[in-house]
Amino acid sequence: MHIDTLCLTGGYKPKNGEPRQLPIIESTTFNYDSCEQMADLFDLKKAGYFYSRVQNPTCDQVAAKICALEGGAAAMLTSSGQAAIFYAIFTLAQKGDHVVSSSSIYGGSYNLLASTLKKMGVEATFVDPDCSDEELAQAFRPNTKLVYGETLANPALTVLDIERFAKAAHDHGVPLVVDNTFPTPINCRPFEWGADIVVHSTTKYMDGHASTVGGAIVDAGRFDWKANAAKYPGLTEPDPTYHGLVFVEAFGNAAAYITKATVELMRDLGATASPFSAYILNVGLESLAVRMERHTKNGLAVAKFLESHPQVEYVNYCDLESSKYYERARKYLPKGGCGVLSFSIKGGREAALRFMKALKLIVIETHVADARTCCLAPALTTHRQMTDEELARIGISPSLVRISCGLEHQDDLIADLAQALDAVKSK
Ligand SMILES: *Cc1c(COP(=O)(O)O)cnc(C)c1O
Repeated sequence: MHIDTLCLTGGYKPKNGEPRQLPIIESTTFNYDSCEQMADLFDLKKAGYFYSRVQNPTCDQVAAKICALEGGAAAMLTSSGQAAIFYAIFTLAQKGDHVVSSSSIYGGSYNLLASTLKKMGVEATFVDPDCSDEELAQAFRPNTKLVYGETLANPALTVLDIERFAKAAHDHGVPLVVDNTFPTPINCRPFEWGADIVVHSTTKYMDGHASTVGGAIVDAGRFDWKANAAKYPGLTEPDPTYHGLVFVEAFGNAAAYITKATVELMRDLGATASPFSAYILNVGLESLAVRMERHTKNGLAVAKFLESHPQVEYVNYCDLESSKYYERARKYLPKGGCGVLSFSIKGGREAALRFMKALKLIVIETHVADARTCCLAPALTTHRQMTDEELARIGISPSLVRISCGLEHQDDLIADLAQALDAVKSK
C-alpha cells in the first residue's frame, strides 16, 4: 500500500458496526473480573489495558498508524516531542553513559542533551553533521550508547547523511536515533537508510494545524540488543521491578525497546499522551500526505522568490540547487524537504525585526509546520538562551528568519513577503 493510503488505513480498523472514526477512550482505568487477570497485566504476562498513564487504546491505535507510516515494528505516543526524545535516549543511556549527537538539532533537544541529561549523568559529544569520518569515529567512547541526529534539522535545515551516521553507530555497536519531525515519513523514512529508532514531535506536520502537542517513538525492531548485551543491561538482564523479567526474552528483539520505554519510563515519569490529543493527531495524520505535498511545493516557490530578491543575503533550503545539501537531499528527500526554510535579510537583527513587523498575512509564531504560514527569528526567541558562539556552532546567524510555509496559495505568500522586504528597504 502507498504511504498516502496508510495515512488513512494505518492503525484503527473498525469491524462490522463499529465507529468509522477512531473512538476516544478517555477512561483512566479498565474493568477486570478477577485479581489474577489484573496481576498478569502488572507482571507483563499478558497484554491489556489497566491504567491510561501507561497505555490507552486510542493512543495505541494512533501509535500503530505512525508505526506503519515509518515502516517500524513498534511505536508509542508521548505527551510531547521532548518527552519522546528524552524517553528514547533514557531507555538506552543512564548515569555514566554517553551519547554522540549531531550538533545541528532542535534547541530543546540540545538543552536536553547538553544540560538536563548531563545533570542526570549522561554526557554528550556534539559533532558537526558534515564532519569527516575520522572526527565522527573519534567522538565515540566505550560508554557510548547511541548516536542522535535530525533528518532535516530544526532550525538549521542541515540534511543528515543518515547512511553514514548509521554505519558509524553500527560499527560501534550502538543504534542510530533520528528525529524525523520535519520531513515526516511522507518525505523520508529513516529506517530505509539504516536508522534504528525514529522520534517525532507530532506537534508539527503530523498534527499540522497547531492543535495539539505530542510526540512519538518508533523502533524499526532491527537493532540486535543481545549481540550488544553488555551495553544494554536494561534490555538484556533481569529487571528487578518486574520480578526479574528480561525484556528481550519476554518481548523479542522487535518489541523489547518500546515495551521497556512504556512499562518503565511511562510508568515512572508519566509523560502520557491524552486520548483526546491522540484523536486530534489522528485526524491530522489522515491528510498528512496531501498536506506535505503542498507544504513542500510552497516551500520551494517561496525559497526561489527569496533567493532572487536583492534584500536577501542567503536562503537555506535543501531543494534549491544552490544549497550545499541539494545532492544529499535528492538521495534522502526525493519528494522535497518540507515547508520550512530560513533566510537572512541584509541589515542584520534590525532589518529582520522591521521585516517581521511589516508582514500582514504571515504571522509571528514560535511554531513551524502549521497549516498557516508563520515565521520567527530563532536568535531572538527559541534560541535566546544561547550565546552567539553556541548559535554559530549549530549554524544559526543572529539575523536569520525562519519561515514555515503553510497551505495558502503561493502567490499570496510571495506578495506578503515582497511588500515586507520593500518595507525594510525603504527605511
Ligand atoms: C518541536 C520539535 C521538537 C520538540 O517537540 P515538542 O512537541 O515541542 O515537545 C523536537 N524536535 C524537533 C525537530 C522539533 O521541531
